Amino acid sequence: ETPATVAAAHEFVALLCRRLIEEEDHLTALDRAVGDGDLGTNLARGARSILSCGEELTAGNSLSGYFRDLSTTIRRGVGGTSGPLYSLLALGVAEGIGRAQEAPQLEDWGRGLDIGAALIRELGGAKIGDRTMVDALAPAVEALNGPAASHPEAVAAAARAARQGAESTGAIVAGLGRSSYLGQRALGHPDPGAIAIALLCETAATHLGA
Ligand code: ADP
Ligand code: MG
Ligand code: MG
Repeated sequence: ETPATVAAAHEFVALLCRRLIEEEDHLTALDRAVGDGDLGTNLARGARSILSCGEELTAGNSLSGYFRDLSTTIRRGVGGTSGPLYSLLALGVAEGIGRAQEAPQLEDWGRGLDIGAALIRELGGAKIGDRTMVDALAPAVEALNGPAASHPEAVAAAARAARQGAESTGAIVAGLGRSSYLGQRALGHPDPGAIAIALLCETAATHLGA
């Protein structure tokens, strides 16, 4: 079930945050291989700031207001390149579910993530194949909004697409971001930001019962 209330939305977001905190060392190790080794720290710090702001984020807020405020919390709490990009994802979700007339359905969440992914591509300038989080996020969003969009199976398909996209980055020579400085040396190492997206999608799929 997709969240229908602010409390349920925060419970879902908190679950994703706890997962990022669990994966801090793993993500940092991946970023150490191809980047500057701070991705786990950046995301875990942001996750902790979200968990500590639960009351401010939820009290008296609408669902789309929650995601708009979450976007601000992420922008302030997450460092590195990931901060502004994840912040845009939350902003897209706010926009997508804000257009829903009643409790947002899977298609409203899908539209929001699509808006967020487009903002990320616009700000970061990355296309598929540039060896970034976009390589996991774009196929996941596409699967979520695919023919099975109203069915929970779409969430599972999105998680599989994210994992596949993330794993595929290990075979790509980077075009953008810090790992581009490594060129051929990044071969065999997946992009850490893309792996983080896959982990989040898998956690989301498990929670949403797909
Ligand atoms: P930094 O590179 O500033 O240390 P992080 O470690 O927080 O930033 O995030 C690194 C991740 O950000 C990369 O693994 C990649 O997935 C993603 N990334 C880097 N540049 C871009 C970009 N231009 N567009 C989208 N994602 C990007
Ligand atoms: Mg980094
Ligand atoms: Mg950094």
